[in-house]
Amino acid sequence: MNLMTTLRQRIGWKLFISYLIIILVGVVSLAITAEFIAPSALDRHMASMSVMMSGNMGGMMGDLTENVRRAINEVLLIAALAATATAVLVSSFVTRRIVRPIEEMTEASRRIADGHYDERVIVVGEDELGELAGSFNQMAHTLAQTEERRRQLIGDVAHELRTPLSSIRSVMEGLVDGVLPAESATFLSVQSEVSRLQRLVHDLEELSRAEAGQIPLEMELVDPATLIHTAAERLRPQFEDKNVQLLLELAPDLPKLRADSERMTQVLLNLMGNALQYTPAGGEVAVIARAETGTITIGVQDSGIGIVPEHLDHIFERFYRVDKSRSRAGGGSGIGLTISEHIIEAHGGSISATSPGPNQGSTFSITLPLDY
Ligand code: ADP
Repeated sequence: MNLMTTLRQRIGWKLFISYLIIILVGVVSLAITAEFIAPSALDRHMASMSVMMSGNMGGMMGDLTENVRRAINEVLLIAALAATATAVLVSSFVTRRIVRPIEEMTEASRRIADGHYDERVIVVGEDELGELAGSFNQMAHTLAQTEERRRQLIGDVAHELRTPLSSIRSVMEGLVDGVLPAESATFLSVQSEVSRLQRLVHDLEELSRAEAGQIPLEMELVDPATLIHTAAERLRPQFEDKNVQLLLELAPDLPKLRADSERMTQVLLNLMGNALQYTPAGGEVAVIARAETGTITIGVQDSGIGIVPEHLDHIFERFYRVDKSRSRAGGGSGIGLTISEHIIEAHGGSISATSPGPNQGSTFSITLPLDY
């Protein structure tokens, strides 16, 4: 770091230099006044002394001392005035540079506290104050994003609740008006909407825990092949019902990994369940697992409807569904992948999705570290 950069980035140095300037100016003005003004002042006083030379010596020396003292005082007064004027100028400049940004930040933080999250301060300079202003703006930006997410979440939840509630309401109105028959099919439709609401509430609880990083993990050594077999056996009847083939291609001797087996099964059920939901009858879903250096990769590959690139970037966002009516018909709320991503990240891993395009299938891949 060169000297200029150090000076620009350190307030302590700036203050030191400013005081140095004041002292320097004081000394220089003393020197200048002593050099140029003091002799003429002394001369003037000596001249007035020589007029009185005819008096006695004692009185003359007294006058001499008095006159020299006056001369020095005169000189010092001029020097002190010059130094004070410079000190006022320099210190007011330094104070303005330090105090004004702090006042601005205090004012901005008050406005942010009042809910004006778009408030920002101007970053001036590269010193600690500039750094503080930068961090302040970063904090304001994060607060604005959090507030925006909160607002969006409330909007999303209200939207998700509206559909099942209005459908329950219309069935109830139909029953009250006698338009709908009071038979089990009618009640079943209400029951299915109530189940959807219950699932949604459960998913929301999971989501809020996941987003707060509060999913409790019970880590143990687990065999990935066992996890995959457990999830596959749970879903096999549904695969058979829909006539979609479920294939497991697991590399032999997969190493064990440290994970929460229940949470990992939840993720596999989400991916395999989605693959089944978005793959038409006659298609197939393959779960492929292999070990690489230090990691295990599990891929869930389907021959289904695929995902276009512009949706691929968003499917891990909460409530994001490519085809809302199709997903909703299958009971989907668009939260499953968001929760899965949080679970995988809590295990130190990553999850991603690829698809060659519409109707060409999709692959969801999880990569987990072995030494987590
Ligand atoms: P949902 O409960 O709606 O399925 P997810 O979070 O699990 O919610 O999935 C989000 C969206 O991603 C789904 O609504 C769907 O549009 C898309 N998606 C997920 N898996 C697949 C897949 N295998 N094939 C095609 N689209 C998928």
